[in-house]
Amino acid sequence: MKILVDRSICSGHAMCALKGPNVYKLDEDGFNISDGQTVPPAFEEEARRGSAVCPEQAIRLTEGD
Ligand code: SF4
Repeated sequence: MKILVDRSICSGHAMCALKGPNVYKLDEDGFNISDGQTVPPAFEEEARRGSAVCPEQAIRLTEGD
């Protein structure tokens, strides 16, 4: 699974990192900087939870590597 973040609509709510602290990294202003990262299998469910709570729907998860 890979993380795709649309930085043009990410608004820095940091909700993704609250639900997915092992998956999503933020910059100092709370914007998601995890675009292009691979999610280890053990954290895929966490990644889905973090993606689901994003108010801007800025996170897309791709299956596979
Ligand atoms: S919850 Fe969505 S809008 Fe907020 S920081 Fe995460 S990706 Fe960006």
